[in-house]
Amino acid sequence: MTEPLYYTDAMMQTCSARITALTDVSGSSAICLDRTCFYPEGGGQPGDRGTIADCVVVDTIKGRDGSILHKLKEPPPHDLGVGSPVDCVLDWRHRYEYMQQHTGQHVLSGALYRVAAADTVSVHQGTEVVTIEIGLATITDSLLRDVEEEANRVIREDLAVRAFLIQDHELSRYVLRRPTTRSGSIRLVEITGYDLVACGGVHLPRTGLINLVKAVGIETIRGQLRLAFKIGDRALLDYHEKHRAITESSDLFSCRPGQVPDRIRSAQEEIRQLHRTVRLRAERLAEHLIPEELGRDAPDSLMLEEEDEDLFKALTERAAMDPDRRVLLLNRKSDSLQWALVVGTGHPFPQQELRERVLSPVGAKGGGKPPLWRGIIPVSRVGQAESIEKFVSAFRSVWEEDRIRR
Ligand SMILES: [Zn+2]
Repeated sequence: MTEPLYYTDAMMQTCSARITALTDVSGSSAICLDRTCFYPEGGGQPGDRGTIADCVVVDTIKGRDGSILHKLKEPPPHDLGVGSPVDCVLDWRHRYEYMQQHTGQHVLSGALYRVAAADTVSVHQGTEVVTIEIGLATITDSLLRDVEEEANRVIREDLAVRAFLIQDHELSRYVLRRPTTRSGSIRLVEITGYDLVACGGVHLPRTGLINLVKAVGIETIRGQLRLAFKIGDRALLDYHEKHRAITESSDLFSCRPGQVPDRIRSAQEEIRQLHRTVRLRAERLAEHLIPEELGRDAPDSLMLEEEDEDLFKALTERAAMDPDRRVLLLNRKSDSLQWALVVGTGHPFPQQELRERVLSPVGAKGGGKPPLWRGIIPVSRVGQAESIEKFVSAFRSVWEEDRIRR
């Protein structure tokens, strides 16, 4: 068996060991050692990464027989064999980060239990946040704030975190925050004088090393609350990012950070009003831009250049008001051609032919119903001239043939 040095001293970053086996795990080479500071994945914590004799370890897992397997990125060199002495070096950033998350979660679960009488139902340690699902359907903002304050108080008090083994028959002597179903030898983790649970993970030795916790989200899952937290250096980084964003925003609005939401609301309202004004002006302008006789005696087309959406929409709607019109409106944009087909209710409409002979050949996308169809042709400026010519002449010839038939 491998001696689990990570349990003796979770802050151990390097150790020396001897190889006890070279093996294979799902297609990757793996090394077993007589002792290791690499924690194998378990209890929601990821496996450790680092190097063993300069070979890159990508993960550490527990084998079915309980052995600790250090998975290597590449097969080990030939001079490494059973009995070889090796130096092991942890990816300390990775390990420290998840110990901070995990130990922070112990403190938060303890605070939720004490302050909000909330049991921890499940925990997920994600790459962005740690989520804790609790046995409550609701929690007030002020109560969650109290929980957060309590957890930060426990961090400031820098309480010792210790782990020790007991036998299952001794369980009755301990008051655990969360009952355990484990049997035999049980590992208990205590935040001194504050919290006690059964846990097989690795923890920071003192709560002060957690630094900081911050609640950042609440959602309801299966009738229970799932709380999201930023813990440790992640919380500080989150603060840096939010501080930068809010400072930039308040500079843009020339206001204090606390006034930013009000300024955004005012700006949104102003934009709504401006849109309304632009729409009304476009409607007035459209009355003048659509000639009285356009498309009344024969099918006609109207070409526009880079017109904005509001005016194009107003023009098509204006044209569609006359039941005697047949008009194709086109608006050239840099990367597409906007089209609208107005067919007044005063004319019969060869819909199938228009679709097959006018719209499909130029790849027109869109739809509608009488008297107005509209959409785009996704074509660059370079290819537009040809498409426009094809579009307009097909439109006219379909109508001409239809007229002759009648
Ligand atoms: Zn733990």
